[in-house]
Amino acid sequence: MRKERLFTPGPTALLPAAQAAMAAMGLHHRTAEFRQIFSATRSLLQEFLGTQNDVLMLASSGSGAMEAALVNAISAGDPVVVLSAGKFGERWEELAKAFGARLEGVRKPYGQSFDAGDIEGKVTKDTVALAFQATESSTGIRHDVEGLARAARRANPNILVLVDAITGIGTSPIEIDAWDLDYVIGGSQKAVMMQPGLAYLSVSPRAWGAMAANQTRRYYFDLRRERKSQAQGESACTPATGLIAALQAALQFIAAQGGRAALVANAEMLAAATRAAAEALGLKRFGTGQPAGALTAIQSPPGLDSGEIVKAMRRDFGSVIANGQGEMKGQLFRVAHLGYYDAADTFSLIAQLELVLAQAGRLERGRLGQGVRAAQEVWLQHRPVPAAAPMMAGQER
Ligand SMILES: *Cc1c(COP(=O)(O)O)cnc(C)c1O
Repeated sequence: MRKERLFTPGPTALLPAAQAAMAAMGLHHRTAEFRQIFSATRSLLQEFLGTQNDVLMLASSGSGAMEAALVNAISAGDPVVVLSAGKFGERWEELAKAFGARLEGVRKPYGQSFDAGDIEGKVTKDTVALAFQATESSTGIRHDVEGLARAARRANPNILVLVDAITGIGTSPIEIDAWDLDYVIGGSQKAVMMQPGLAYLSVSPRAWGAMAANQTRRYYFDLRRERKSQAQGESACTPATGLIAALQAALQFIAAQGGRAALVANAEMLAAATRAAAEALGLKRFGTGQPAGALTAIQSPPGLDSGEIVKAMRRDFGSVIANGQGEMKGQLFRVAHLGYYDAADTFSLIAQLELVLAQAGRLERGRLGQGVRAAQEVWLQHRPVPAAAPMMAGQER
């Protein structure tokens, strides 16, 4: 038997309760019953994100919400600073160019992190917006969201800070209100354990205020219109009713598990376990930046195309992991920890990886289990064992 399992950093493993809720949804969207679900889901989302800001749900993939944020934040000719060290940073650059921004790109090699020092002298009093990723999913690296946001605000109190947190939410700490983030964007197929197709974002009072002066033409992604409709439990056009029902179920599940903080702690632990396993197996992680909690990017052993590892994982175990993107293809593979993954999933994945490497002649048979063991040690360190757990005299661990 071979079960197919997704370990990709989007789409990720699906929560059965969310799948069931989606399949059961048959309501018309302009009914009191659906409005109640829509409003309840929005409240759960606000609680999940931990913000007082308005939150909106959009029927699009995550990139749609990136576009929505940008077209509502900037007008053509506005100076915009974009930080890019990977494929998704490049998406912000492309969007900013598409809408005529005066783009000030700050680039770093793939695999590096951005922090406050990187925007010194780049963000000025004239900069209208700063856009970056919380987690760069193409390289498995996180950026210093708090440091960047605070430094940008010091340089320009009116700047709009746009954070693509599509894989950052639920995998690393992001404090929307305390860090004064204007647009924070998420997507359904990442930490909230659902199928693709729904995006969500939070919008600050400063961002709403700045929209009055905005000249960019927009229709579907006009957030002022959405805000009015969504306050009434509706969206301007037809909402993705099934996905909204799924989001409600997923957010209820997450709340019962301990909320966003518990989800973040889980992802961070699985990421630490995976990094420890990679090291024990003599594999190097990709990049030199701060590793993400959402996913781990691991370099393929020298001379072995990472595509071979991806293929063998699927062929032998039905596990779908991600290859590198663009110029990183063949060099690295990526394993997800965001959303509906637990320690058992991660131990299993590492055991599979060991077998794939052994078959490729890249791991001596005698070393099988060393990666799993390293991951188990991380689990033991993180486990909240009561301090006074009784141990009998002479009993060994
Ligand atoms: C997945 C992802 C996106 C793109 O989302 P789509 O849903 O494919 O549009 C953007 N940014 C990051 C960081 C992502 O991980």
